[in-house]
Amino acid sequence: MVKAVVGANWGDEGKGKITDMLATDADVVVRFQGGANAGHTIKNKYGKFALHTLPSGVFSENTVNVIGSGVALNVPKFFEEIEEITKKGVPMPKIMISDRAQVVMPYHILFDQYEEERLAGAAFGSTKSGIAPFYSDKFAKIGFQVNELFDDELIKTKLERVLVQKNVLLEHLYHKPLLSVDELYKTLCEYREMVRPYVGDTASFLGETLKNGKTVLMEGQLGTLKDADHGIYPMVTSSNTIASYSAVSAGIPPYEIKQIITVCKAYSSAVGGGAFVSEIFGDEANELRDRGGDGGEYGATTGRPRRVGWFDCVASRYGCRLQGTTDVAFTVVDVLGYLDEIPVCVAYEIDGKETGEFPVTHLLEKAKPVIKTLPGWKCDIQGIRKYEDLPENCRKYIDFVEEQIGYPITMVSNGPAREDIIYRESKLK
Ligand code: GDP
Repeated sequence: MVKAVVGANWGDEGKGKITDMLATDADVVVRFQGGANAGHTIKNKYGKFALHTLPSGVFSENTVNVIGSGVALNVPKFFEEIEEITKKGVPMPKIMISDRAQVVMPYHILFDQYEEERLAGAAFGSTKSGIAPFYSDKFAKIGFQVNELFDDELIKTKLERVLVQKNVLLEHLYHKPLLSVDELYKTLCEYREMVRPYVGDTASFLGETLKNGKTVLMEGQLGTLKDADHGIYPMVTSSNTIASYSAVSAGIPPYEIKQIITVCKAYSSAVGGGAFVSEIFGDEANELRDRGGDGGEYGATTGRPRRVGWFDCVASRYGCRLQGTTDVAFTVVDVLGYLDEIPVCVAYEIDGKETGEFPVTHLLEKAKPVIKTLPGWKCDIQGIRKYEDLPENCRKYIDFVEEQIGYPITMVSNGPAREDIIYRESKLK
C-alpha cells in the first residue's frame, strides 16, 4: 500500500512532522523530487532536526529510506546530513539511492548563483542550491545519473562534451573562471565512493516491496503551488511537487497510491517571490511570523523570514485537488490561539469579478483577497488530544475550512511534536 504526504500550498505546511509520524509504520519512505533546497523540520525523541534530502524515515530503525530517480542529489550535502543526525544519536539509517537519480554538479550551484547575480532585481529568489540548472541539464540530457559514475570512460567523455558548453557561458555571459575536466572528474570519483554502498535499482526494490504487502510512504517537498506545471509558474520549483509524480520517481504504477495526505497549514506562509493573495504586512504579519510554526516562520534551509498571510481557501482547494487528496492534515492550528478574530480568504476578486477558482499566474497577480472573519478561541490548545475537547470556535474554524476546501480534514495538528495530533471525523458527505 502506498501513501503520499504532500503540501497543498507553498511548502512549509508541516509535512515533516506528519511524515515523521507516519514513517514509524512505514516499511519504506521515498523522497521523490527536489533537492537540498528546502527542508522539513522534525521534532522527536532525538531532538530537533532540519532534513533537506534525507527522507523522514531515517528516525525509524526498520524503515528503508529511498532516494527516487526524480531527486536532485547533492552528494556531499546528503552525507553531511547523515553525519548530522548520527552525531545526535540517531542510529545509522537504512538508505537506498536510485541508480537513475542524477547528481547535482558543483557547477549547477555556481550557475544558480551567477544567474541570480546577472538577473539582479529580476531574480527568482532561488535558494542557489543549483536546482534549476540541475533540472535544465537533466531534461537537456546532459545530466549525470548515479549509475554513470561507475563508468570512468563515460564520465570523462561526457565531461569533455558538457564543459565545452558550460565554459562558453562562463566566459562570455558570466565572466567567471572556467571549469576543468580533470577537477570535475576527481570530484565525481569522490562522489562515486561515497554513494557506492547505497546505490541500487530502487524501482525493482519498490515493486517487490509492494508485492510483499508492505507500506511505502512517498514524501513530498514544497507544495502544489510550487509545482513546475500546476504552480505559480515561473515562481515555482523546477520539479513536480504533486503526488502523481511520486509514482514516476519511484518507478511504480500510479494506481498503487491509495492514500494522499495533503498537508494544509491553518494560515499561509511562503518563501521567495510570486503572487501571494492573502499576504499580510507590517505589525500584523510580524506577530504571526514570530508566533508561527515552532519558533517562528523562518526558512528551515535558509533562515529567511517567510512571507505570511491568512488561510487561503481558493489556493488550498486548488492545491488539494491537484494533489488528489484523500485526507487533509490541518496543521499549526495552535498558533492562531492569540487572535480575537481570524480572517480567512474565501474568494479572489480579479478585474472586479469574484471567483473561487485559482487562476493562471498573470491573472493571479491581479487578484485581491475577499476576506471573511471568523471568531477566535483565545486560548492555548496544545496538549489537547480529543477533537471534542477543542474550543467550540476552533472546531468551527476547522469545519469552515473543510467545507470551503471540500476535502476531508481527518487530522488536526496542534503542536510540533509527533503526539500533537488529533484525529477527526470529516463532516463532508
Ligand atoms: P515542511 O517543510 O512542510 O515540513 O514544514 P516545516 O519544516 O516548515 O514545518 C513547519 C514548522 O512548524 C516546523 O518548525 C514544525 O516543527 C512546526 N510544526 C508542525 N506542525 C505544527 C503544529 O501543529 N503546531 C506548531 N506550533 N508547530 C508545528
